[in-house]
Amino acid sequence: MLGTMLYGPRDVRCEEVPEPRILKPTDAIIRLAAACICGSDLWPYRGLNEITSPLAMGHEYCGVVEEIGDAVTTVRPGQFVVGSFCLSDNTCPHCRFGFQSSCEQREFMTGAQARYARVPLADGTLVATPEIPEDDLIPSLLATSDVLGTGWYAADAARVQSGSTVVVVGDGAVGLMGVLAANQMGAGRIIAMSGHKTRQNLAIEFGATDIVSERGDAGVAQVRALTGNIGADAVLECVGLEESMRQAINCARPGAMVGYVGVPHGVNLDGQAMFFSQVGMLGGPAPVRRFLPYLMDLVLERRINPGKVFDLTLPLVDVAEGYRAMDERRAIKTMLRV
Ligand SMILES: [Zn+2]
Repeated sequence: MLGTMLYGPRDVRCEEVPEPRILKPTDAIIRLAAACICGSDLWPYRGLNEITSPLAMGHEYCGVVEEIGDAVTTVRPGQFVVGSFCLSDNTCPHCRFGFQSSCEQREFMTGAQARYARVPLADGTLVATPEIPEDDLIPSLLATSDVLGTGWYAADAARVQSGSTVVVVGDGAVGLMGVLAANQMGAGRIIAMSGHKTRQNLAIEFGATDIVSERGDAGVAQVRALTGNIGADAVLECVGLEESMRQAINCARPGAMVGYVGVPHGVNLDGQAMFFSQVGMLGGPAPVRRFLPYLMDLVLERRINPGKVFDLTLPLVDVAEGYRAMDERRAIKTMLRV
């Protein structure tokens, strides 16, 4: 079958790879309904994570179960399923506490930019829909697997509540999903920080009430001006760089939480500045599995349309162009027909 392998910086290839098979009794094999490229795939693509051997890319997935291992009991062949990019047993103490992304047996999904994929820990990881969903829902169901689940976690970790004033730092796909999440959670005001017109428009469509196009200190000053010099009740940091992290913390009012879901690269925070800011921080890889059943229901009931975040669709063979388009910010998020 065709799959996606990353060989080195900016060297991603669609090529013939072996079909996945059951390796452990807790595995399932799924036939993907569609695949996509994640913003976090750009870190190794840009050479910011060292690549010692070719990587099988792709960790966002939904599709039909083809085969299950002997120990799998909660899903069966023929069912349509979605799973998290973090694989979890959903039974250990961390899973039961709602932090499946720190599962004692955690693994990270790989190899899902392909026609078929192996999903370890299938019982704990996969959630089945009651029936095969209509085709037009596939992009939104695929989005629940990571990008929406991660934006949702950012809003949850930032403790967005009904009436909250929320700032979203980052206008990538996750930031835009953070806007959608904050809107669903009843935020009163959602300030999206974005300097790009098409992303600003999508943020507004997802529920942003204000746009701040400046970044850094100028952006913080704008947020302060918009909030009567108080700052936001909740801040979502969806980038992971030093400037964006500072921007997020400086936009938060004392007592606020920053939910940070951009994987930090080169971020150093000053302990004393954090102490006096009185801002709380919760982040990390999103425990998408906690939110999946609820988010899938929202999609199946057509109450949200996160699939709009895909603004480029390509066949799998053109995966390299999909990466280039996201790297050059010509596309927000690329979906792949498999
Ligand atoms: Zn667990």
